[in-house]
Amino acid sequence: MSTKSHTRLCRFAALIVVAAVTATAIAGPSSAKAKQAKQGRAKNVILFIGDGMGPAQVEASAFKAFGQKRDEKGNPMKLSFEQFPVMGYLTTFAANSFVSDSAAAGSALACGKKTDNGMISVLPDGKPMRSISEIARAKGRAVGVLSSVALNDATPSCFYAHCGSRGNQDAITSQIFDAPVADVLMGGGIVRKTWTDDKIRTEAEKAGIKFFTCGNFSQITSASTGDAKVLGYFDANDNKQLEFETSRTAGSNEPSLVQMTAVALDLLKRNPKGFFLMAESGSIDWACHRNNAPQAIGEALELDRTVAQTLEFLAREKMLDSTLVIVTADHETGGMTIPGPYKKILSAGDMPDVQFSTKGHTGMPVFVWARGPGSELLRGKNDNTAVFDAMAAALE
Ligand SMILES: [Zn+2]
Repeated sequence: MSTKSHTRLCRFAALIVVAAVTATAIAGPSSAKAKQAKQGRAKNVILFIGDGMGPAQVEASAFKAFGQKRDEKGNPMKLSFEQFPVMGYLTTFAANSFVSDSAAAGSALACGKKTDNGMISVLPDGKPMRSISEIARAKGRAVGVLSSVALNDATPSCFYAHCGSRGNQDAITSQIFDAPVADVLMGGGIVRKTWTDDKIRTEAEKAGIKFFTCGNFSQITSASTGDAKVLGYFDANDNKQLEFETSRTAGSNEPSLVQMTAVALDLLKRNPKGFFLMAESGSIDWACHRNNAPQAIGEALELDRTVAQTLEFLAREKMLDSTLVIVTADHETGGMTIPGPYKKILSAGDMPDVQFSTKGHTGMPVFVWARGPGSELLRGKNDNTAVFDAMAAALE
């Protein structure tokens, strides 16, 4: 190389360095935020959580739905969220344990920081953490929190309450009325402890919250006008969950997760500034704790339908490009694997062979899928706190 061209090259390199330093100065120390700025911001953020839905739960469900069928391009058939452009996986450990419970994992997803098992959106020392729901609310968005199990179960509670113990549902329930964060809060039941339906009804009335149960589920959208908040639990047989999809009784007036989510979206879209919605299938976890594969798959496929229907809603409302949609799990439950069938083709509708290795949770990483503004942040391997980071950056 000549001296002249070497000098030119050095100058060029120096220019690049200057440009890079300037870019860093403008973007600040957080490369996540810099990337986010490039991608634009989201009007709405929707987080779907399949509780206990590890990789095997997802893939067993896809195999049940499609078998070994391929699409016209020769690719394996995909569930609605498997078609999202961004995919990654998340570590799920808690601050004080490798294997997480739903409280610590829900807190990490909702607040972006690790805490101990059993704690609801508070740090290990008991200090409350600011949740994504509170951030969304402060930024003028409407907030929705849904679960197919009790609305004061650990996962949903992390999105509207702060409590040192997931078992203290009395305190968690009080926060629904004392400082309401959610505009729409619905579930497949409620753990009452010292609360009664009458007390809940009275407190809701005092707080200006409209209260719904199975009997008037169909009237929610017409009965709720203006800014009135909505609280509902739909639990005809008081088993703290919407009926499992595989054993839903004909004529049951409990809504499905699909129906509950449709109603929530219709209410939340009324806010011109946008909304944050967390919708959880808690029943996948419950089925896996029982090592019941058909039930778990039935619920995961219900979550798949819920996501598909939500994408249709967003397309209809012309909000597909302005909405960050994330689908993930809080942790894996059951240590599920798919050992078979061997020497047999799997057709659509066939149950793959499924085995469990525990009745509890495991430390298996979970998948995450994302689409829309800010979704790139979730590509590859991340900690579960990255879900909060992506959502918070998108709501900036
Ligand atoms: Zn969980």
